[in-house]
Amino acid sequence: MTNPQTQTRDRHQVVVIGSGFGGLFGTKALRRADADVTMVAKTTHHLFQPLLYQVATGILSEGEIAPPTREILNGQDNARVILGEVTDIDLETRTVTSRVLHRETVTPYDSLIVAAGAGQSYFGNDHFSEFAPGMKSIDDALELRGRIFGAFELAEISDDEDEIQRLLTFVVVGAGPTGVEMAGQIAELAHRTLKRDFRRINTREARVILLDAAPQVLPPFGAKLGSRAAKDLEKLGVEVMLGAMVTDVDERGLEFQLKDGTRERIEAVTKVWAAGVAASPLGRQLAEQSGATLDRAGRIGVNPDLTLPGHPEVFVVGDMIALDNLPGVAQVAIQGSKYAAKEIVNRIEGKPAQGPFNYWDKGSMATISRFSAVAMVGKLRFTGFIAWLMWLGLHLVYITGFKNQITALLHWAVSFIGRGRSERTSTEQQIFARAALKRLKGGASDLVAPPGAYEAAQSLIEVTRADLEAKAAEETRLTDEHQRGVKQDA
Ligand SMILES: Cc1cc2nc3c(=O)[nH]c(=O)nc-3n(C[C@H](O)[C@H](O)[C@H](O)COP(=O)(O)OP(=O)(O)OC[C@H]3O[C@@H](n4cnc5c(N)ncnc54)[C@H](O)[C@@H]3O)c2cc1C
Repeated sequence: MTNPQTQTRDRHQVVVIGSGFGGLFGTKALRRADADVTMVAKTTHHLFQPLLYQVATGILSEGEIAPPTREILNGQDNARVILGEVTDIDLETRTVTSRVLHRETVTPYDSLIVAAGAGQSYFGNDHFSEFAPGMKSIDDALELRGRIFGAFELAEISDDEDEIQRLLTFVVVGAGPTGVEMAGQIAELAHRTLKRDFRRINTREARVILLDAAPQVLPPFGAKLGSRAAKDLEKLGVEVMLGAMVTDVDERGLEFQLKDGTRERIEAVTKVWAAGVAASPLGRQLAEQSGATLDRAGRIGVNPDLTLPGHPEVFVVGDMIALDNLPGVAQVAIQGSKYAAKEIVNRIEGKPAQGPFNYWDKGSMATISRFSAVAMVGKLRFTGFIAWLMWLGLHLVYITGFKNQITALLHWAVSFIGRGRSERTSTEQQIFARAALKRLKGGASDLVAPPGAYEAAQSLIEVTRADLEAKAAEETRLTDEHQRGVKQDA
């Protein structure tokens, strides 16, 4: 077995940035390579993003969609995992620098796969994020879970009609797959799941609004499936507002502008931002050092073999790349990282290159509610129950780990056949920690001592202990030598 501590620079060193679809599948594809593989990622889990909305709405637990990367890779002897956010990639010295709290790690590489994905984009209005969390991480999903279920709780104890209405209005911004799935699930929660749980409020009166500046729902699915999805959402009780551009978001609601220039406001405590993505800022670093292009979403222009211009040793895959109008979907990341891994193996083994990367489109799908989805595979289009069954089968196959597949199936039975949502737990910290951490200049690092500070504090404690011991010895001596009460010379 290869002990990470004994890995030597004699073997080819591959560094993989990210533990998402690109990072994990790329690392696994290198399992038989004559190389040491180091995965550097800022979370300890692999995240199955397509099911985040189910964590936010209480169907699945976070563990079911975010298994520990270390556990997934524990049987792969040539792979090790390092926790840390990559802050610097140096193409000249071929090193990757990562940080966690105050600790910095520099990892050298011979080949690099960059799969750092994309984050939420508020189109330059980052202050919207304070009141409208995105849907990109487990933190986001748990915060939203707390906000959504918390809104019903606050409405139950309010006597103010306006406030109740504001609390029972949910706005999802962005009518792509994430927004559609989120709006559908909140509507099901309000109209079906929670209807018997409260005594003072009628959860079925909740408003769920799906809002987008674009003129249609699900643009990547084409006009036909888009209008079918909009109709299905409306049947569920979701208000679909199109051509509405959000101009401001605050604690109590949001404002938007219609195409004719009129401005309107919706009073809503809970807002979900599912509108835009921006590629990892590591793309900009790579572009600046290599001269590669960046598009408006920060995605980097790569060569047809997914390498960085002028740097055949660096592959960029998944949501970070702009190549042939490839969509930001899991299969692009999975297939891209497997291609990059194969190329690295070919080079180590002295085999010829594979030729350009070719994406095989296996289709796309989005759920609207239980038993209803839209799907496209090649030229075929599916809607309703059949599409939903396809969605169920596919997601079951791709959830990582047999145990997670079994428990997810159980939770789906509870939620889709029954009315239950077994994962409704949320805490005050989950709701407010993001905002609280943002107020600290150094984020979470401000809450822990830098390396060495503990030792310094320990030596201070030693000094104090020495004083205390001397004082105690003096007290003992005074008593034992009967010095108490003895007049001291003036
Ligand atoms: C809510 C949601 C729903 C989606 N639904 C679908 C769907 O139904 N079907 C579909 O095909 N696609 C879907 N997608 C898109 C799909 O998840 C992405 O296309 C895919 O995850 C891209 O893979 P990736 O490896 O490029 O990035 P990711 O999977 O996002 O992985 C990026 C990794 O890099 C890590 N990372 C980021 N920055 C750093 C750094 N500086 N240092 C260290 N590590 C870093 C992250 O922690 C993460 O591990 C959805 C996405 C979201 C957000």
